Amino acid sequence: MSRFQVKKVAVLGAGVMGAQIAAHLVNVKVPVVLFDLPAKEGPKNGIVTKAVEGLKKLKPSPLGVADDAALIGQANYEEHLEQLRDCDLIIEAIAERMDWKLDLYKKIAPFVAPHAIVASNTSGLSITKLSEALPESIKPRFCGIHFFNPPRYMVLVELINTPTTSPEVLDQLEAFVTSGLGKGVVRAHDTPNFVANRVGIAGMLATMKEVENFGLSFDVVDDLTGKKLGRASSGTFRTADVVGLDTMAHVIKTLQDNLDENSDPFYASFGTPAVLKKLLELGNLGQKAKAGFYKKVGRDVLRFDLESEEYVPGGQKADEVYGRMLKKPAAERLRLLRNSEGAQGRFLWAILRNSFHYAAVHLATIADNARDVDQAMRWGFGMKQGPFELWQEAGWLDVAKMIQEDIDAGKALSKAPLPEWVFKGPVAEAGGVHTAQGSWSASAQKFIARRALPVYERQHFPEKLLGETSLPEFTTAGTTLHEDDAIRVWTLEGADRAPGTGVVIASIKTKMHAISPDVAEGLTLAVDLAEKDYEGMVIWSGDEPFSAGADLQAMLPAFMVAGVSAIEGAEAELQNTMLRIRYANVPVVAAVRGLALGGGCELAVHSARRVVHMESYIGLVEVGVGLVPGAGGLTYIARRAAENAATSTGKDILPFLTEGFTAAAMAKVGTSAIESRKLGYVLESDVIVPHKDELLYVAINEAKSLAKGGWRAPAKRLFPVAGRSGIATIKGSLVNMRDGGFISQHDFHIAGLIAEVVCGGDVDAGTLVSEEYLMTLERKAFCALIEHPKTQERILGMLSTGKPVRN
Ligand code: NAD
Repeated sequence: MSRFQVKKVAVLGAGVMGAQIAAHLVNVKVPVVLFDLPAKEGPKNGIVTKAVEGLKKLKPSPLGVADDAALIGQANYEEHLEQLRDCDLIIEAIAERMDWKLDLYKKIAPFVAPHAIVASNTSGLSITKLSEALPESIKPRFCGIHFFNPPRYMVLVELINTPTTSPEVLDQLEAFVTSGLGKGVVRAHDTPNFVANRVGIAGMLATMKEVENFGLSFDVVDDLTGKKLGRASSGTFRTADVVGLDTMAHVIKTLQDNLDENSDPFYASFGTPAVLKKLLELGNLGQKAKAGFYKKVGRDVLRFDLESEEYVPGGQKADEVYGRMLKKPAAERLRLLRNSEGAQGRFLWAILRNSFHYAAVHLATIADNARDVDQAMRWGFGMKQGPFELWQEAGWLDVAKMIQEDIDAGKALSKAPLPEWVFKGPVAEAGGVHTAQGSWSASAQKFIARRALPVYERQHFPEKLLGETSLPEFTTAGTTLHEDDAIRVWTLEGADRAPGTGVVIASIKTKMHAISPDVAEGLTLAVDLAEKDYEGMVIWSGDEPFSAGADLQAMLPAFMVAGVSAIEGAEAELQNTMLRIRYANVPVVAAVRGLALGGGCELAVHSARRVVHMESYIGLVEVGVGLVPGAGGLTYIARRAAENAATSTGKDILPFLTEGFTAAAMAKVGTSAIESRKLGYVLESDVIVPHKDELLYVAINEAKSLAKGGWRAPAKRLFPVAGRSGIATIKGSLVNMRDGGFISQHDFHIAGLIAEVVCGGDVDAGTLVSEEYLMTLERKAFCALIEHPKTQERILGMLSTGKPVRN
């Protein structure tokens, strides 16, 4: 079979999901055409046009940059079906009605290209039944592709095959969804609601049932079932409000309609909870209706009280003792909760027990193996651990016995016993379902290894589950060249590496990967090592963020003892590190993911290339703590302006400086890799990577290909600055902002200093300067500010509360 290439995708249905899926395709640079029904009035593409416009306003933003909405092709089924012929993948995301979907399939079938994959985003309809309407020729190329809302941010995509889906087609689609869209694929069986929603919604219903049993209030439950429990911070009821209670009701109805006592022994607990029924009746559908389980009135969050049908004061927190119990090691935690005196503790044990019980009873039917269940819960429901992982961590057989005791005592939601494999055979012997050989398949009664598709070779360190001990750990993998508390310098190259080849990896180890003087020293050492014997270097961390900035806390002791001169020395060191990276004899590639703020941003922009995960947040945010970027950030802005000006016919630098100046003075952060490109922190020549686990692979290859292309460090040259006239112009507009009350006096002062640095100080426009000269200005401004009481107030505020102080 020839290589499957996705040159163009059609998305059918411009509703909540279809429009956002189209937006995500634009984010990852896949041409897309979005279809919907022809509008009854006005232009025929009216429905799609409205949906595309809506994307620009939606929060969180489905688009990397809002203007890219224009890249979504617009079409309708009356005029444009011919366009389907060019599409390699057709994703159907129309309303959840079997008859409507089948009608549409009949309509499009004649236009589907002979190689194209057709996939439905249905949340719960049978994929096999949907496939039956298709011609025989399309059936092997049809499957389910279940995205989660919001599709840009939710990692999970479930792929569901039918008995007639060709295995190669599913593998091809998995490769595209993983590498091309950056998603985590779970293969689900064609059972009602598939894996994540089946386990997740059953879990929510079970939670609501236990809330009734234990008589707890929503706010306490949300406090208990959010972050403290290792789940999405919105807890149970606020999550339901965010999802929409009508959508919840829809998914619950799918469970109710498609299952019964025989197919699901927990069926009796799937009744729509009384409170949900009442809220639906009242039209209080959650966040979109501004009222649901909760209602915000002014600054207060009220909660719904079923008895009075009124909103009453909320905000109650759980008893602190349970917060402490939830921090204990897993085995102790579960035992403490189960034996606790209070209702809140026993409630927590009950919902965890229910989740273990449910997952074990259904494993054989809903998924190929336990890995798919745990990954689905991590990626689809934002849990830190899936049910099997937690159970395994807490001690497999001990927990199994506790669950069975509760079942026997009639405390569980179903009398169904735990399956035999829980107590006897390989799982019991291995102490859990995830092992070095693979994860337990209850249907095949053996451990199944991860799928070995070529796409996964791009993931050096795939996100692993507890118990998957055969997968490498980024903290110990490869060969360590140097390691201390601040940094690990290492390589993935084998012992057979020819001298002068291969790549050195520098992984920062500090909290939030903050850049302390030790980190700076370690980075310099990594460059030394790379130059000596390798062809390139990559700055990469196995976990987020890339770096939250310079480590102010680490600088404080020196400041206390030796005052500002100590800080000036540390800043100079940091600047030297940045220049060392920029002018290294080998290409240094920054692999950015998550936050790259302040010093983190400066590290990225001084690298030869950036390989950036889509979901990266990059910016010079020093103003927030009353400082200016002091490790080359402003020098970078001045240099970039001069470089860009050099490509134009005019001589004036200032117009090219405005964007960079504003970004630094307003502490703007690019909220996606694409937006950071607009701010000038990511360049056209950089690479944006959709999947976080492919970052290292791409970065290493980028470093190697730069080296093989004959990498030379950039020439060290002088460049022109905007000078005193530039400063005057910028300060003129700053005065207006201050006098208009848009910025504080201290903001005005800092922005003025930024203007002075990026314009090169008190010199004529067009004066040629060096990076070192600008860095000296930058350092002086930084040090002047650090002695300023208002800046000190901002720094102390940030260090103590983590929030910016406005003064
Ligand atoms: P929606 O109601 O927002 O949009 C449905 C779209 O289908 C509308 O644009 C409508 O014009 C179009 N449509 C309606 N009737 C049609 C017909 N007869 N023929 C062709 N088009 C028609 O729905 P949604 O929430 O985007 O859901 C779409 C699909 O995605 C459903 O199958 C749903 O189960 C699934 N899904 C939804 C979510 C979610 O959170 N909303 C999550 C995952 C999957």
